[in-house]
Amino acid sequence: MTSTTPPAPAMTRPSRSAPRPPSPVPVLVHLVIWGGAAAVLALWWSDTPSVVGAAGWLTGAGRITGLLAGYACAILLLLMARVPLLDRAIGTDRLARWHAMGGRYVISLACAHVLLIIWGYALESRTGVVDQTTTLVLHYPDLLKGTIGFSLFLVTAIVSVRAVRRRIPYETWHLLHFGTYLAVFLAFWHQLSDGADFTGNRPAQLAWYTLYIAVAALLAWYRFAVPVRRALRHRLYVAEVRPEAPGVVSVYLSGSRLAELRAEPGQFFRWRFLTRGMWWAANPYSLSAAPHPEYLRITVKASGGHSAALAHLRPGTRVLAEGPYGAFTARRRRTRKTLLLGGGVGITPLRTLFETLPGEVVLVYRARRPEDLALRGELDALAAARGAAVHYVVDEPAAYSSPLTAEALRGLVPDLAERDVYLCGPPGMTEAALCALREAGVPRRRVHHESFAF
Ligand SMILES: Cc1cc2nc3c(=O)[nH]c(=O)nc-3n(C[C@H](O)[C@H](O)[C@H](O)COP(=O)(O)OP(=O)(O)OC[C@H]3O[C@@H](n4cnc5c(N)ncnc54)[C@H](O)[C@@H]3O)c2cc1C
Repeated sequence: MTSTTPPAPAMTRPSRSAPRPPSPVPVLVHLVIWGGAAAVLALWWSDTPSVVGAAGWLTGAGRITGLLAGYACAILLLLMARVPLLDRAIGTDRLARWHAMGGRYVISLACAHVLLIIWGYALESRTGVVDQTTTLVLHYPDLLKGTIGFSLFLVTAIVSVRAVRRRIPYETWHLLHFGTYLAVFLAFWHQLSDGADFTGNRPAQLAWYTLYIAVAALLAWYRFAVPVRRALRHRLYVAEVRPEAPGVVSVYLSGSRLAELRAEPGQFFRWRFLTRGMWWAANPYSLSAAPHPEYLRITVKASGGHSAALAHLRPGTRVLAEGPYGAFTARRRRTRKTLLLGGGVGITPLRTLFETLPGEVVLVYRARRPEDLALRGELDALAAARGAAVHYVVDEPAAYSSPLTAEALRGLVPDLAERDVYLCGPPGMTEAALCALREAGVPRRRVHHESFAF
């Protein structure tokens, strides 16, 4: 294998594409999801001639929560299937937030289902709750499997609680999270064999199988088959690693037919470097230069094990890249004027947008110290080439510091309220910027935000 030295980042001409109207996909996806939930409730309604007594109400509520939990499981997996249409129109970070919120619904519904069914059945058969639980788990078809699945869901829920998640390494959390695939598989069977709405109801069984098989097929295709096919086709490898700032390096990646990846400025890939100690992790990093037919570039700040190890990559190291992902692209633009607001290493996707977004663009780049302003030479050159303004704001020394307020932003960009804003930076800065932008009168729909933490 040969490694070529990539050329210095080229100055791509800003594209001429006009701002687009908002995509209808997020609204349609909401409608489809809630429509599916309504259909699930209709299934229960059509199968329930009457509800009698406390036991009947408890069992009925248990059936509804069970049906909704089963349906929501399939939707949660669908959101994480990395379907390009959803990813581009909604955004990977927003999908991840929907998935996390949906996870809370699923756990609440599943817990309510278990408690209500046990209680309802115990009242109906006039037995104790413990006796009824033992009978259900040991004697009902597929319920032992279902119980193991439910326990796995609980483990995932516990490790996903913010206070717990913060204390365990990302990889451990991710691995435990994978247990939910097994949990869904184990819990699936009892829905059909014990669910009163499915036993003897062929159309309902068929619909449930179709839902789950379709989701499984999308997961298998987009999360496994497509990345493997791309790895074989593009044969990516590390071409060069260049230092950019203290603790920040750029990694240039080369390979075959890179244009076919159709990566857009602002997007990211999950990168798996096939070298000792790194091959098992696929971490997300945004492109930091507009995609080039000969190479791709990422720029990474050392913040932990994976990101720090990038500085030591050797040219020729093979790379598997999953993607491109993300909706932080020119497609989000609603107007011809844009403010790019970046902090720290959040500059990476903004650097590509600064190079390629058409119209009138201003960049505000915040960093702790002047030496932390990565890619500064390139940003200056891009600004000069396209006649755009760049404002660097550093926190130290304090004399140069400027608070992130509506007033301070308006001082730098007087027509702020008329612009689209692309925002990417550390969580504290992002929160302050979102408040400042709201106060400055930038409508929410024109603030496009990429989060570096899922
Ligand atoms: C869409 C996106 C684009 C990003 N682009 C860049 C970039 O251009 N440059 C840059 O320096 N950083 C970028 N990051 C952040 C970068 O992915 C993390 O800093 C890096 O993965 C941390 O890994 P670590 O082992 O070095 O640190 P750790 O200490 O192991 O992790 C620190 C935190 O990073 C996150 N993280 C770790 N591994 C993963 C993973 N596999 N998937 C998702 N999140 C993970 C977790 O929130 C974790 O708590 C991006 C993140 C996202 C989500």
